[in-house]
Amino acid sequence: CGIVGYIGRRDATPVLIQGLKRLEYRGYDSFGIATVGSAIEIYKKAGRISDGEAGATDLCGCTGIGHTRWATHGEPNDINAHPHIDCNGKIAVVHNGVIENYSELKRQLEGRGHTFRSETDTEVIAHLIEEHYSGDLLAAVNATLPLLEGSYAVLAIAEDTHRIVAARDASPLVLGVGDAEVFAASDMTPLLEYTERVIFLEDGDVADLTPDRLTIYHGGQTVERPIELIAWC
Ligand code: GLU
Repeated sequence: CGIVGYIGRRDATPVLIQGLKRLEYRGYDSFGIATVGSAIEIYKKAGRISDGEAGATDLCGCTGIGHTRWATHGEPNDINAHPHIDCNGKIAVVHNGVIENYSELKRQLEGRGHTFRSETDTEVIAHLIEEHYSGDLLAAVNATLPLLEGSYAVLAIAEDTHRIVAARDASPLVLGVGDAEVFAASDMTPLLEYTERVIFLEDGDVADLTPDRLTIYHGGQTVERPIELIAWC
C-alpha cells in the first residue's frame, strides 16, 4: 500500500489526494485521508481513489495523512479503509505493513474498554497511542512501537497538536523537505512536484514533523540523516 503525509501552509487535502494517485500502483482496494484543523476530519472509501476523490475535497487543515490500501486483515470496505482512529476520534493513523500480534493486542485493549470499529490489524495502533497520549504525540508513539510485532510505516496525527509523527520498521518511508513544509510518503513519487530534497528514513527511525522543524530519532537519540537532492531527468 502507500501512505502520504503533509504538514505546512497549504491545504493538505489536494496534496494528499494527488499523492495517493501517484501511489495507487502500490495498492488500490480502498483509500482515505485525515486532516487536522480544529478537529480531525476523515474521508475514506472502498474503491480506487479516482472514484471517490470528489467527496474528499472539502476537509479542512494544513496537516494531514493519507493511505491507499492493499488489504491484509479485514476485507476491502469503507470501514476497514485507513485512516483508523482511537475511541474518541482524536488520534488518526495510516499504516503500511502487517501487525502480526494484533489479535492479542486487540483482546487486551478490548479488556481495558476500547471499542473497535474495523477488522484491521492497524486499528490497534490508534488505540495504543490513545492509551499513552497525554499531549505529547511523539512520546505516545514511542511508547506504542515496542509493543508492535511485524512491519510498519506509520503516520500519526492528533487533534490538539499540529505535527505528524512518522515511524518505520521494514516498510519504506521517505520525507520531502520544503520551505516551511514537510512531506512524507512510501516512495518519492508524491514528493517530486514539491521538493527535490528528500530523506530516506531507516528501520527503527521515528520522525517528529512540524512545518518548521524535522527531528529524527533512533533508539531514543536524535540522529542526522542526509538530505539527498533528487533531480527529475
Ligand atoms: N495491514 C493493513 C491492512 O490490512 C495495511 C495494509 C496495507 O499495507 O495496505 O489494513
